[in-house]
Amino acid sequence: MAKKNIDFIFQTLDKLYPNADTELKYQNGFQLLLAVIMSAQATDKQVNKVTDKLFKTVFEPRDVLEMGLDKFTKAISSINYYKTKAKNIYATCEILDKNPEILSSDLKSLTTLPWVGIKTAKVVSHVLFWTKVIAVDTHVHRVSNRLWLVNTKVPEKTSESLEKIVPDKYKSIAHHGLILFWRYHCTARNPKCQNCPFKDFCKFFNS
Ligand code: SF4
Repeated sequence: MAKKNIDFIFQTLDKLYPNADTELKYQNGFQLLLAVIMSAQATDKQVNKVTDKLFKTVFEPRDVLEMGLDKFTKAISSINYYKTKAKNIYATCEILDKNPEILSSDLKSLTTLPWVGIKTAKVVSHVLFWTKVIAVDTHVHRVSNRLWLVNTKVPEKTSESLEKIVPDKYKSIAHHGLILFWRYHCTARNPKCQNCPFKDFCKFFNS
């Protein structure tokens, strides 16, 4: 993609979402990690509803361990796949309680934790440590391809390609802005194309 289009896309996203950030609520890195794990196949709204109460008493791995698996499972039971998530979060807490250094910017280290894949690791690493990575889910993958930022088949490749072509100065807006753009504008069904600033060169709109 031409550099002028890259500049246009990210400068426009920056104007649309001047305070772009994660919509997950958290007070420390541990809480963010838990919220990101819970957000897989769930909306940020659903997660925030649960963590609004949970994070009044859960600040570190020991708090989850002291709650016990059953009580913790019940506390997050309104979230999709809560049983699997609870089991894996509990196992993560057992590991982090003994090895707190794993919660760092290092992707290899983060992905040793149960249920922490590369996407989750990149979210945590970028949001907490401002690393120059771009986490890509299926939605960001869809939008990036619609905008011709990339021409890829799977989110992992989209993430790698975006990290290569997006200048560092746009990494943060790329990370958060593309999420907000698919969530509120370029939805999978019925995207708001008529008032889209990118429709002149959008693959989807022009096909
Ligand atoms: S024109 Fe439509 S499909 Fe294309 S980026 Fe804009 S909202 Fe999405």
